[in-house]
Amino acid sequence: MNTLYEHGTLAMLMAKNLAGTITLEELLKHGSCGLGTFEGLDGEVMILDNEVYQADSTGAVHHVTDMSTTLPFASVHFPKDLHSVTVGNVDFDLLNKQFVHDHQLQNVFAALRLHGTLADVLIRIAPKQERPYPSLLKVAQGQPTFSRQNIIGTVFGYYAPAAFGSITAAGWHLHFLSDDRQFEGHLLSFNAKTLSGDYEIFDQLDQHFPVNNREFRQSDVDLQSLREGIAKSEGHQD
Ligand SMILES: [Zn+2]
Repeated sequence: MNTLYEHGTLAMLMAKNLAGTITLEELLKHGSCGLGTFEGLDGEVMILDNEVYQADSTGAVHHVTDMSTTLPFASVHFPKDLHSVTVGNVDFDLLNKQFVHDHQLQNVFAALRLHGTLADVLIRIAPKQERPYPSLLKVAQGQPTFSRQNIIGTVFGYYAPAAFGSITAAGWHLHFLSDDRQFEGHLLSFNAKTLSGDYEIFDQLDQHFPVNNREFRQSDVDLQSLREGIAKSEGHQD
C-alpha cells in the first residue's frame, strides 16, 4: 500500500481557514517528504527526508526545527516502490503531457522527485497573512516571485487527478529547493536539459480534516470562486 497523507484541503484555504491545525511533529508521523504552508499561508514548505525547509516572502529559506510549528494544509508520504526516471528537456509542458501520458498518471495521485541543474526557474512565495484572513484568491493576487538561472536542486511534489481539484491542486504541484538550501518556493515555471530521480504512484489517499477547528466547521465554501481561486493560486504558467 502506498499512501499519500493530506491534512486540510484547498477548499478550506479558499474559505479563509488559514489557522494552523496540525503540528510538524504530528505531520511527520505520516511522511518524511512533503509540501505545505505554515499558519497564515506563511511561505512555502518543502520536507525532504525529514528535514523541513520554509521559504518566507522575502525569499529567505529557513531550516525549521521547531516541531510545534503548525500548518493549515500539507501533503506528505514515506517514499517506497520508487520508479527511477531520467527526463530530458523537461518543463511543465513535458510533465503535463508526455510524462503523465507515458506513465499513465492521469487518474492517480503520484509523487515526483527530480534532481539536477535547472537552466531557468521561477518560483512564488506566499506572504504571511494576518487575521481576519483573506481568501486564497486575494492572497494569490500579490505574491512575490523570484527567478534563478543555472541552479542545482530538487524539484519535488505531487500529481493529483483533475477530479480532486478542490481538495488539492489538480495536476502537478511542485516546489523547488536548491542544493545550497538558499532558494526555495512553489514552482511557476522551469526548464532543464536533464533531470533524474524517481516517481511513485499512490493507491491510497488519507485525507485528514481539522474537525476540532471551530472556524473550519462553521465556514462556508463559495464554490463559484473556488475554481478560479485555485487556478490563480496553485497554478503554474505553462
Ligand atoms: Zn505550493
